[in-house]
Amino acid sequence: AKARGRGRAELFDESLRAQLAAHSEMETALTAGLAAGELEVHYQPVVGLAAGRLEGYEALVRWNRPGVGMVPPNDFIPVAESSKLICDLDRWVLHEATRQIAAWRAEDPVAAELTVAVNVSGRHLSDPRVVQDVTDALAASGLPAELLIVEVTETVLVSEPAAFGHLVALRELGVAVAIDDFGTGYTSIGQLAGMPVDTLKIDRSFISSADSGHAELVALMIRAAHTFGLSVVAEGVEEEAQLAWLQGQACDFAQGYLLSRPLPAEAAAAAWRAALLP
Ligand code: C2E
Ligand code: CA
Ligand code: CA
Ligand code: CA
Repeated sequence: AKARGRGRAELFDESLRAQLAAHSEMETALTAGLAAGELEVHYQPVVGLAAGRLEGYEALVRWNRPGVGMVPPNDFIPVAESSKLICDLDRWVLHEATRQIAAWRAEDPVAAELTVAVNVSGRHLSDPRVVQDVTDALAASGLPAELLIVEVTETVLVSEPAAFGHLVALRELGVAVAIDDFGTGYTSIGQLAGMPVDTLKIDRSFISSADSGHAELVALMIRAAHTFGLSVVAEGVEEEAQLAWLQGQACDFAQGYLLSRPLPAEAAAAAWRAALLP
């Protein structure tokens, strides 16, 4: 029994060692890739439901890794989040996305009011540099602060004391704050009312199951959010019926594959030209 126990421990050690090696290999490659310009930002449209109009975009990072292809963020963001690398990555996305939206505004007045939402991870939001990073990106791009939205998760807001103060400072700049994946944590809308928050993004899991029992819950979330002066984005809208239902519930914005997948910058520009030009 002793020998078998040790065998298992060795097997465990080995797979753990392999995991650690894979992790550090990816961290090294990602660090180099960020410096080498291998990251790119894709843009997913966010549509205003009252007017049926393009409101703006969420910036979503991709890694175009040589020899591998387009790596989705869920495969590398967790690695970046285990070190300060996530701060460098988030900062790069912030600069790239604000630069792109500012370029579109300069190109055509119909793009003048487009917003851009950027994801900021908890680690970056807790870092005192985050306020300077946002200030720098706005200054470098010339984008008005009112057109930038910072997306954070609810757990960050309640578990990272420093994050709270940084969000207050960001809002003083004029930047809006959205709570991402709302409903997957333990925060109530009442709690959020006293927090530096402007918008709730209802997680995809609630939208996709709205027809099978979650509908009342989503309707309640929308009403409660409005009561507290928050606007609402429905994430992961994939079906026409979901969109119509959300419209009926006076949900403010929708995002999802039904409207558009995230697009490379050039394709996104073609989409806003088609959507907004007469
Ligand atoms: P998220 O912030 O919740 O972003 C929404 C994700 O849902 C995106 O996945 C988007 O492509 C996907 N999505 C949108 N509409 C639909 C739909 O109708 N159906 C389905 N099944 N999926 C939909 P993506 O781009 O793979 O990003 C995954 C996550 O990676 C993001 O989730 C976010 O947490 C993180 N992420 C992406 N870019 C960044 C970034 O620049 N910085 C940080 N810190 N995290 C990022
Ligand atoms: Ca997001
Ligand atoms: Ca989300
Ligand atoms: Ca997420």
